Amino acid sequence: MQIQKHIVASIEYTLTDDGGQVIDTSEGRGPLTYLHGAGNLIPGLEADLEGKGVGDAFKSRIEPADAYGERNDAMVQDVPRDQLPGDMEIEVGMQFQAQGPGGVQVVTVAAVNGDVIKMDGNHPLAGVTLNFDVKVVDIREATKEEVEHGHVHGAGGHHH
Ligand code: ZN
Repeated sequence: MQIQKHIVASIEYTLTDDGGQVIDTSEGRGPLTYLHGAGNLIPGLEADLEGKGVGDAFKSRIEPADAYGERNDAMVQDVPRDQLPGDMEIEVGMQFQAQGPGGVQVVTVAAVNGDVIKMDGNHPLAGVTLNFDVKVVDIREATKEEVEHGHVHGAGGHHH
């Protein structure tokens, strides 16, 4: 069996940036189980997993365009301090959830200049080239219900 549309695959992975810094890993957490072909992974990784089988291990280098996109300077905005919760100390690196046109969006405090807060709505990994070290550990057919829902049920997936 190979990974293709409507296959559920479990992968072990470690994600590093070009500096070798670990951004995310399945180590200590167990494999990531996902429904292939439903847009549950970034496009570049999903494309590289296509056709792989259990036991296959590979490295995948993914440019921002096939990952979390390029940085968009238009998504950086100055916000007056009084539009944020008053009882909170605002520090660089803090993250807030904001309602954006595409749903809930995470914005990060990029700078604090007195009463003006620079908010960055870019995904924290926008503009970052991703280096995945991946191993396929399990593959199975998706159930009809999983295909309908567009995600995995049970271990490692949705419980509902
Ligand atoms: Zn479901």
